[in-house]
Amino acid sequence: MVSTELGYDQLLSIAFSVPMPYEWSVGVYGSLFFHEIMNHNRFLGVRCPDCNKVYMPPRRLCGPCFKELDELVVLPNEGTIEAFSIVNYPFVDPNTGEQRPIPYTYGYIRIDGADTIFSHIINETDTRLIQVGMKVKAVFREKELMQGNVQDIKHFEIVNP
Ligand SMILES: [Zn+2]
Repeated sequence: MVSTELGYDQLLSIAFSVPMPYEWSVGVYGSLFFHEIMNHNRFLGVRCPDCNKVYMPPRRLCGPCFKELDELVVLPNEGTIEAFSIVNYPFVDPNTGEQRPIPYTYGYIRIDGADTIFSHIINETDTRLIQVGMKVKAVFREKELMQGNVQDIKHFEIVNP
């Protein structure tokens, strides 16, 4: 209620639609990262010359060392589950704009050879079948459907449970 001495007691609203086409650059390292996925179904990282830490996906600077990073490292498409959450709350996926069917598992995965964690969907939602420490492998979109974005990775699946 607005409640004024003039007697106006309703808030008004204006409805309209705004088309918002949106595009942003993934940068040089982001482009290399997605090219490697599209062409070889594997990942790319970058090693810090000072602390030896391997970042995946690659980035331009090491935060702790503040060194520029230029030693690209080819990484496999397998890793280890460091943590996971099974999500049962309906949620609009910001990457697709669509509601992801529940439940789904959001995983924190350390790709073999990397020191950082990569988060993505794991296609297992049964808590009896998924554990921290399990090996997972990326499942990629069909080559002809790849677009150079994170949806080119469909999900990760558990390897030899
Ligand atoms: Zn460093």
